[in-house]
Amino acid sequence: MKKTKLRIHTWPEKILRCRCREVKEVNEEIRSLLDEMHSLMLIKGGVGLAANQAGIGLRLIVIETEDRLFKLVNPRIVKRTGKIYFKEGCLSFPGLELNIKRSHKAWVIALDEKGEKLELETEGILAVVFQHEIDHINGTGFIERASLREKIKAYPQLRKIIRRTKRELRKQRKKS
Ligand SMILES: [Zn+2]
Repeated sequence: MKKTKLRIHTWPEKILRCRCREVKEVNEEIRSLLDEMHSLMLIKGGVGLAANQAGIGLRLIVIETEDRLFKLVNPRIVKRTGKIYFKEGCLSFPGLELNIKRSHKAWVIALDEKGEKLELETEGILAVVFQHEIDHINGTGFIERASLREKIKAYPQLRKIIRRTKRELRKQRKKS
């Protein structure tokens, strides 16, 4: 596993609430960012990571399942059908699990790390992960997708996360 200088940004850091910029050209720089994101995701034990979670405001996501690794540029969902409830976690919301309603199938268009166009038909848990990560690059955290009931249940843990993030940001400001 490679080392990385990237770190996980946690809610409510601003970069998580901003829409990421389109990537104009898939070059070496983009490929090495995708590699670093992948390393960070493995270190943290996630199944998916969006660039802004790693502090990069670009439309990049990495998803790894048992048998496939996706390193995608400018992904977007072009069609969705059905519904599924799944208990999701998020590296930017440590310790929080939310049962969220998503589409059961999602059709995704993206570029791969060589800049070639990909069309993916995703279903079930994989579709959930794609929707979660693409939400991130649009500035949407999964708490915003939760029902009112889930939000109320999540409130104590969410407060802890927000306090911890603010403490962390103060520490970094002092250092710089
Ligand atoms: Zn997430």
